[in-house]
Amino acid sequence: MLIEAGPTVMQQIHRAGFEAADVEMVFVSHDHGDHALGFPMLALNRLSASTPLNVYAGLDTLTTLRILLALTWRGLKTHQFEITWHALSEEVAEQVNLGAGVVMRTVPVPAPPGVSTLAARWTFSGGPSVAFVTDTVACSEAVDLARGADLLIHEASFSATLQPDIDPRPIYHSTARQAGEIARAAGCPRLALVHLSPQVSDSPEALVEEARAGTGLDVIVPEDGDVLRV
Ligand SMILES: [Zn+2]
Repeated sequence: MLIEAGPTVMQQIHRAGFEAADVEMVFVSHDHGDHALGFPMLALNRLSASTPLNVYAGLDTLTTLRILLALTWRGLKTHQFEITWHALSEEVAEQVNLGAGVVMRTVPVPAPPGVSTLAARWTFSGGPSVAFVTDTVACSEAVDLARGADLLIHEASFSATLQPDIDPRPIYHSTARQAGEIARAAGCPRLALVHLSPQVSDSPEALVEEARAGTGLDVIVPEDGDVLRV
């Protein structure tokens, strides 16, 4: 399962040693370009795949993904892509059985007007669970979703220490400090900071320190290609 389909998704899939056909499912949190614009290339590269692509997203996001396909591949009919669309609620939490003992729970999180954003958690039966929260403010929905998860992947678009005057709430983003607070409130032992803005991405150590806030929280800023075991 691929999480998000940003503009460079095909390059990243190849870099990780996979082909598009290896991706059987994709979850897209919302339809902003940095999360969705790689979808048409993923779909195109799967045209010869033997299994359909299962797309999980909120209804608005699914609509945008369909429009992106229709706009970019005018000669092809949508059915040629062999996509199974799974519309998730943008109003209430949902639970989906993905098979192989994996359950995905999704929950709407605060987003700009006109945008519907979902956070998600994957629980492996008898095994770990991973929560993913991005492009939203520090919120109680994230704490509830991530409660007890072995790994929380949370956005840190900004930094409270490097950018002391920043207030990310009006633009529906979070600081590394807030991501750390969410992880601690949810009882997650491990936090991965992602979705860094260019203003903070050169200072991963500062972000780690900020999120840890002197606690024992295990915080990492993963680099492209990193593999985490939970
Ligand atoms: Zn984004």
